[in-house]
Amino acid sequence: MATKYVYSFGAGKADGKSTMKDLLGGKGAGLAEMTETGVPVPPGFTITTDVCRYYYANKQKLPKELAAQQKAALEKLQKTSKKGFGDPKNPLLVSVRSGARFSMPGMMDTILNLGINDVVVEGLAQLTNNERFAWDAYRRFIQMYGNVVGGIEKNEFEHILEGQKHRSQVKMDVELSISDLKEIVGNYKKLFEKHVGKPFPQNPLEQLEGARNAVFKSWNNPRAFTYRKLNRISDDLGTAINVQTMVFGNMGTDSGTGVGFTRNPSDGKKEFYGEYLTNAQGEDVVAGIRTPKPITEMGQEMPAVYKQLREITSKLEKHYRDIQDFEFTIEKGVLYMLQTRTGKRTAAAAVKIAVDMVKEKLISKEEALMRVEPEALDQLLHPVIDPKATPKVIAKGLPASPGAATGQVVFNSEDAVKLGESGKPVILVRQETNPDDIHGMNASRGILTARGGMTSHAAVVARGMGKSCVAGCETIRVSEVNKQFNVNGTTVKENDWITIDGSTGRVILGQVPLIEPEISGEFGIFMGWADAIRTLKVRANADIPRDARVARQFGAEGIGLCRTEHMFFAEDRLPFMQEMIVATDVDARRKALQKLLPFQKDDFKGLFKEMQGFQVTIRTLDPPLHEFLPKTREDAEALSQKIGVSVDKIMHATEELHEFNPMLGHRGCRLGITYPEITEMQVKAIISAACELATEKIKVVPEIMIPLVGNVNELKNQKAIVVRTAEETMKEYGVKVQYKVGTMIEVPRAAITSAEIAAEADFFSFGTNDLTQMTLGFSRDDAGRFIKAYIEGKIFQEDPFQTLDQTGVGKLMEWAVTQGRKVKRDLKCGICGEHGGDPASVKFCHRTGLDYVSCSPFRVPIARLAAAQAVVEGKSKKGNTYTQK
Ligand code: ADP
Ligand code: MG
Ligand code: MG
Repeated sequence: MATKYVYSFGAGKADGKSTMKDLLGGKGAGLAEMTETGVPVPPGFTITTDVCRYYYANKQKLPKELAAQQKAALEKLQKTSKKGFGDPKNPLLVSVRSGARFSMPGMMDTILNLGINDVVVEGLAQLTNNERFAWDAYRRFIQMYGNVVGGIEKNEFEHILEGQKHRSQVKMDVELSISDLKEIVGNYKKLFEKHVGKPFPQNPLEQLEGARNAVFKSWNNPRAFTYRKLNRISDDLGTAINVQTMVFGNMGTDSGTGVGFTRNPSDGKKEFYGEYLTNAQGEDVVAGIRTPKPITEMGQEMPAVYKQLREITSKLEKHYRDIQDFEFTIEKGVLYMLQTRTGKRTAAAAVKIAVDMVKEKLISKEEALMRVEPEALDQLLHPVIDPKATPKVIAKGLPASPGAATGQVVFNSEDAVKLGESGKPVILVRQETNPDDIHGMNASRGILTARGGMTSHAAVVARGMGKSCVAGCETIRVSEVNKQFNVNGTTVKENDWITIDGSTGRVILGQVPLIEPEISGEFGIFMGWADAIRTLKVRANADIPRDARVARQFGAEGIGLCRTEHMFFAEDRLPFMQEMIVATDVDARRKALQKLLPFQKDDFKGLFKEMQGFQVTIRTLDPPLHEFLPKTREDAEALSQKIGVSVDKIMHATEELHEFNPMLGHRGCRLGITYPEITEMQVKAIISAACELATEKIKVVPEIMIPLVGNVNELKNQKAIVVRTAEETMKEYGVKVQYKVGTMIEVPRAAITSAEIAAEADFFSFGTNDLTQMTLGFSRDDAGRFIKAYIEGKIFQEDPFQTLDQTGVGKLMEWAVTQGRKVKRDLKCGICGEHGGDPASVKFCHRTGLDYVSCSPFRVPIARLAAAQAVVEGKSKKGNTYTQK
């Protein structure tokens, strides 16, 4: 049987239905479904996306069966509409509307009133008894056709129109006389001929062909291309075309056109929402020429039609079981629906609507969970810029860590701490941040950097701390020395106020009112449903009690990664840390470590208390030691004063520690192996904290985690130190506490030899930042420079540091889990890389059988929802049939 390329709809019957979006596009499927459910829809037909794909696969030729099918559909349409295409006595006019699987603003504009020519326009005038209307329709048609098909700039038409208004001394389009309109049409036609090289087509069939082919061409115009790229829509989907009988909203005050939503798309309230215009056609509502009226006013102006519209749209909402975004036109008191689709909404609205619809018994809880994109929850967890504000945007960078922050600008971490201590809100502006900026970042509300990508130091740390961050804002020129930055002629100095929006990347001059996040009732209910269904546990990466508290508030069930080194960067400890590093013998090193011990112990006590019996995974020291040392001679001098070690010795130590590839250098368990006393001190601090709390009857379960293990012997070495120290410490206290010893799996060799490693480990935690870095051979700190080209060139689908490379890194994880569990059946496995907060990666972790994911506190709710969705998706065989764009 020949392929069916054309699907008719009209008179209550349609060839297609709502499930055929791939073939008919969203609009076509909606029109078919509405027709079938008895909603008044002007009849028409849809040319399928198959034709578009064929067109591109065959050097812009159309399938030969199309002509006959299109002809038959057009004949059928003339019958249902009881009008003739090109018949001046009773003309059928149509709109030609593009419509892909997903709504795409980048595509070609709709052409209205197609089918008018010099003869038809006269017939139309007689038939409607409205000459003005007929000529205005013709004018609009040539304008749209000339622009879309002829490629003539819109402003060339505007120019003619404005010229005529000027000559006739009128201001508004509606004031133009019939003869004005006739003259405009004449001039439009001349413009068309001059530009296109042949007269404006008078044959309606030729007009239709021209419009149809222009739609197919527009699929690959640069606007559409860019839109698809930004929204990750495949270029191979193709668009469908809808040819539909015109109805006229511009036939007087009993006519009109409008758009609306069945619920409020910004807050989700169950209220009719939208706007309309009387005596207007199509795009007039959105074109902004006239101000539309709120849709509720229709209740007074056209009560009967309003009532019918409400009935139809409620019916549509029930039918589709989701909020609808609809378009309608009223022709002389008769209502027609022109489009319905799932309404786009904010996260707040999405949550409220999902919860309400469960209460209304429209959808199940599981469906409700699938209705909210996990990533979107982020909008609900951070302050946002008051939508009523009109901010002065001076630059745009990468939206590196969500939320908005207002504060006074400083250019180094010391100043950030000072200003922060005086109670002022601070925005730290740096060329880029590095590990010694932790305390400065901690003292700031937000961070702005000129360099670095989405996984740069600033971005990762800011996300971890839940602070707003705009990174890689390359248009700003930062002078840390002069304490100012310049952007496009504006200079921002120390202490000036700026606002940054880490959700959009905007940098704004001055203070802007912010709205604090509110965890509303519905949000809580919604998250409760997610928790009830998910099996994957969600922990947080947190290093200090305050972060742990936030994590608990957001529902974290333990800490999956406590990076102990962050504790050493604080001002009161750093000198001891540095003293330890520059020490030339074990005794001096032990002495310095002894000074750090009480700090570490207190840190852990604070953390354990916050976590109230939940497990806390503590990683022993990980970063290369040079990160702790002063960078300049000046700083070295200051340090020398504090710790009484000569400047030369300090500088020498710095030089000695220099490495060509620090990330592959002397770090992780390699530190603990060369300096066992560091591991000893850390374990002593952990176990002492646990023992002291045990005597206060506070239960803690520390999990001690060894980083960067690649060979089981490394783990054995460190584990021996841990066990010996732990036993000694417990003996000292005369208290027994439970503890576990496990390892990170972040070196590919560890994943591959996981069976051996599992024999020695109580748990595995996948450090997917390093595992990705080492598996791909991409330096995480440098890859930003070329990954963009990889994504643009479609070499990579996604940035592997943002969403887990399931086919590569993921395979290593799967292998490690299965091999590890062969040795230890209930080996606990988790993930603590940045991926632990990425929804797609969380779902992968669920499928791989991990026990938990751990992510930054502010992503905990996102991970909880993603974990719940993974369960629902696992139940529906088709995979992600629930997911919608
Ligand atoms: P978009 O995809 O940009 O929304 P549409 O194809 O929905 O474009 O068309 C835009 C507007 O044009 C519609 O909202 C409607 O007002 C008007 N329109 C389209 N087809 C018709 C028609 N057959 N009769 C009357 N108005 C129409
Ligand atoms: Mg539309
Ligand atoms: Mg690591």
